[in-house]
Amino acid sequence: MTPEREAVLQIPKRDENFSEWYTAVALRAELADYSPVRGFMAIRPYGYALWEGIQAYLDRRFKDTGHVSAYFPLLVPESLLQKEAEHVQGFAPQVAWVTHGGAEKLSERLAVRPTSEAIILPMYAKWLLLLQWNSVVRWERATRLFLRTAEFLWHEGHTAHRTAEDADAECRLILGIYRDLLEDILAIPVLSGVKPKSERFAGADNTYTLEALMPDGQAIQAGTSHFLGQNFAKAFDVKFLDSDNQEKYIWSTSWAVSSRLIGCLIMAHGDDRGLVLPPQIAPYHVVIVPILGKDEAKVLAAARDLAKTLSAKFRVKLDDRDAYTPGWKFNEWELRGVPVRLEVGPRDVAARQVILVRRVGGAKHPVPLDSVVDTLGKMLDQTQKEMFAQAKTYLDDHTTPADTVDAIVRALADVKGFVRVRWCESQACEDTIRERTGASPRVIPLDEKVSGNCVVCGKPAKAWVYYARAY
Ligand SMILES: [Zn+2]
Repeated sequence: MTPEREAVLQIPKRDENFSEWYTAVALRAELADYSPVRGFMAIRPYGYALWEGIQAYLDRRFKDTGHVSAYFPLLVPESLLQKEAEHVQGFAPQVAWVTHGGAEKLSERLAVRPTSEAIILPMYAKWLLLLQWNSVVRWERATRLFLRTAEFLWHEGHTAHRTAEDADAECRLILGIYRDLLEDILAIPVLSGVKPKSERFAGADNTYTLEALMPDGQAIQAGTSHFLGQNFAKAFDVKFLDSDNQEKYIWSTSWAVSSRLIGCLIMAHGDDRGLVLPPQIAPYHVVIVPILGKDEAKVLAAARDLAKTLSAKFRVKLDDRDAYTPGWKFNEWELRGVPVRLEVGPRDVAARQVILVRRVGGAKHPVPLDSVVDTLGKMLDQTQKEMFAQAKTYLDDHTTPADTVDAIVRALADVKGFVRVRWCESQACEDTIRERTGASPRVIPLDEKVSGNCVVCGKPAKAWVYYARAY
């Protein structure tokens, strides 16, 4: 047996051991690898191409809405980090500290940024729409590729506004952009809304969030946008001169999505054969596998012509390595999740056709050479839609209403996923549910009117809230 064929067979069945399946896919699909630094991962070119796709989409949307990129220092002086009390308390357990420069002990410890509010805010004094693409460090005990690593990639947006309304509108605008990324590009449906107080970003007055559901029934936070109120402005004394000639504190926001999304992508769509990528984000839309034999030169020439023609419209990989059999290549590209495989052999060349095989579904379609561009385009569109629809059906089927705490426990055991309940917004009732169920409140939906009574105390409900076990 060839090593790659063996590799495919070595992926555990997804529904038998989800965690081992996940790690095997991340490694075997060559997305990322462990590194010599404990807790830190290396992102391999195929995984980084996914990140570049996310960056390209978001960066265009950010620029289109008036944001500009900048770059700020990696290190944050301890005195600055400490200025916003809740903020420092929230991050303290995960901060890595620089204490020496060479042999010289520093007079003040420097934090490797866990996030950059404390270094960016004091450096600008007016309303600005800034973002930076960078990495941050948050010390972790356990490592799970993309999902939990001490360093991860993200962008962080930081904006300052004249009024609370403007800052809130910014948070919602960004949440909408993140939602488009998740649903239209990554084909992952999300619940959107705000976090309950206990789950907010450290130092924020409000945290908007997107929550996705993974096939093991656990929720994952896919993007957040924080309304920071005037907390940071007051801590760092950032004021502006308003039109009434009064000095006022700015209203600020911060927001991010991270390379964790690649972990979501693996989990949301993968199957027993490995990764399945939605066409909108796939580094290659189509892989061309020539089936050599007799007329080798003719087949290779046809494959190269096809690669050239299709490259005008699609992201194409021609796999003409001669040390591997076609069957071996089929397995490898399935494992790596390429949406469509194109096979071309001597008989196809003679018949002026190719064979297209979708990663989702897998049936072989003979397609005349003249209509390959057209058919491939349609297949990719169809794949994108089907992948979203399938994930949406899963989300809907795994969202259960519950009117009692016992019903929450039952739903989490039987159905898994999200449980939708009425809540009076008291911390005591939230704590009761956490203790009884092991689930946490993930999101309070916006614009969903509630009537009826709190699932715990029976007092009038003030909000709907979705509970789930979470990553
Ligand atoms: Zn209650």
